Amino acid sequence: MLIVPERQIPDLLTRSASFTAVEKVFAAMAAGQAYNFPVIREAIGHEDALYGFKGGFDRDGHTLGLKAGGYWPHNLEKRGLINHQSTVFLFDPDSGMISAMVGGNYMTALRTAAASAVSIQHLARPDAKVIGMIGAGHQATFQLRAALEQRPFEKVIGWNLHPEMLPNLAAVAEEAGLPFEAVELDGMTEADVIITITSSFAPSLLAQHVSPGTHIACMGTDTKGKQELEAALLGSATVFADEIDQSITLGEAQHAIATGLISRDDITEIGAVINGTHPGRSSAEEITLFDGTGVGLQDLAVAAAVVDLAVEQGVAIEVDF
Ligand code: NAD
Repeated sequence: MLIVPERQIPDLLTRSASFTAVEKVFAAMAAGQAYNFPVIREAIGHEDALYGFKGGFDRDGHTLGLKAGGYWPHNLEKRGLINHQSTVFLFDPDSGMISAMVGGNYMTALRTAAASAVSIQHLARPDAKVIGMIGAGHQATFQLRAALEQRPFEKVIGWNLHPEMLPNLAAVAEEAGLPFEAVELDGMTEADVIITITSSFAPSLLAQHVSPGTHIACMGTDTKGKQELEAALLGSATVFADEIDQSITLGEAQHAIATGLISRDDITEIGAVINGTHPGRSSAEEITLFDGTGVGLQDLAVAAAVVDLAVEQGVAIEVDF
């Protein structure tokens, strides 16, 4: 089996390789060639940790495996380690033998950023100029960098409940040579694309903050109870998701579904747009919305890309097993 340690991954994995892997696996999911296994997530009653598994099988990509990991809230203060910890295990789909073990922490950030980038590539207006960010934490900087590569954006605007974190976004805008402006939520009407990436349990982005023609990528809501958008926005938008089951149970759509504003049939897998079986955006006025909940197959696809890159560059560690 091959091992690719966490420390090597930032030097191996590019945003472009992550984008390609995620776009392909979304396409395979919509074509019925790849599916995610039920997610396990447990409060283990130790260190206040949440631990679980996300797995799946991609017949097209010949990728089978799981990501194991979770959230250890005291890691940083007690051990100087990051609170999110995960590892991906890949298996040979022909024999069932383990084929690789790959550090999952940095990869998770890039695969999540790739998902909103794929949605922007396929659903945002081609003339999008202003990108708006709601959220300015760890993941927001990854989302913004990947998004900026999808359209010739001319300006970044941002809002965050904790304004002292906004310099994180300003730094990414500056890196890309773009102006950054901190705005109130009303100011989001200037945005052609909005990414939400907060850990909020109550809506921040309301219908009145969104202009016609905007594409919204909702990336923060990945658990029952979390919410970033007023549910009415889902009622007035054309809604896409990475996976419909997750979208309606733990994604942003959970609230609009629970209140009957939309039904499951109103949500389309983004892979259908990638495959050309759904036309995607139909007009310059339509609001498109992507509910990116984060699926195990994204992790496996990006991990498989990391293994290929590590082998190509001669840095994969081979062990007998
Ligand atoms: P972080 O802790 O670094 O940042 C949290 C962000 O949420 C900050 O901008 C903070 O100001 C904001 N926030 C906190 N409480 C808020 C509230 N009550 N209302 C509005 N904003 C609030 O976390 P992160 O690593 O950037 O992750 C952000 C979110 O993205 C989390 O909910 C995480 O679970 C989710 N996430 C989703 C995926 C996916 O695949 N969809 C992947 C990774 C992370």
